[in-house]
Amino acid sequence: MTGVDDPRTAELSQHLATVHERLAAAVAAAGRRPDDVELLVVTKFFPADDVARLISLGERAFGESREPEASRKIAALRAGDASGPIAAGDVSFDMIGSVQTKKARSVARWARSVHSVDREKLVEHLARAADAARAEGARTEPLGVNLQVSLDGDPTRGGALESELPALADRVMASDSLRLSGLMVIAPVDGSADRWMARAQLVHQAFVAHYPQATTLSAGMSGDLEAAVAHGSTCVRVGTAILGQRPLVSQ
Ligand SMILES: *Cc1c(COP(=O)(O)O)cnc(C)c1O
Repeated sequence: MTGVDDPRTAELSQHLATVHERLAAAVAAAGRRPDDVELLVVTKFFPADDVARLISLGERAFGESREPEASRKIAALRAGDASGPIAAGDVSFDMIGSVQTKKARSVARWARSVHSVDREKLVEHLARAADAARAEGARTEPLGVNLQVSLDGDPTRGGALESELPALADRVMASDSLRLSGLMVIAPVDGSADRWMARAQLVHQAFVAHYPQATTLSAGMSGDLEAAVAHGSTCVRVGTAILGQRPLVSQ
């Protein structure tokens, strides 16, 4: 299924090559080093078989945005339904979508990091959930937390205001089971991506001055990864350019 004769594997391989080229060009144009920027392949809406194909093509870091879709997919992969058993340490999955507090427990069992943390109540639920996941042996490392910041104050895409970040960061740091790793942004569709990413970079620089461990800037998707890399992104989240159009289902 994952071999070179499989048409879907060939298609994914071609798309991946294009995205890796775009990323390499953006990194070079910005005078940055290739391993400064992680590629997170966003596999939401696509089946475990596609994740297995991407693993066979060398990808190791994935982003998911919905529960219970993510839990089911990862369980299938780990059990070997899709591709043979996958060692837990080899492949990581990040939660990039908004998290309902009642889903914190399941997310803390599989996620390396959560990119979309934007309110204190969610931090509290994730801290308790990560404590529980460690006690159960479902995870060993602390759960990484990126605080999602809203660049334009419009709440529909989620994200905290810049002024709310310190209180959230302090709350994350108060938990041994959470690790403050950085910030995440989704650029508003209006206006130039370059301008929004420049703004994201300024917000991140000010944040890192107070929280030096928060080195991650999760920014950039299929349409704006070049602008994000030009402005200091350390993690691009790319779905459509690799997997193709998602079905039009509301979130
Ligand atoms: C779906 C999603 C992505 C991927 O977007 P594409 O435009 O398909 O690359 C990135 N970030 C978040 C938060 C998402 O929900």
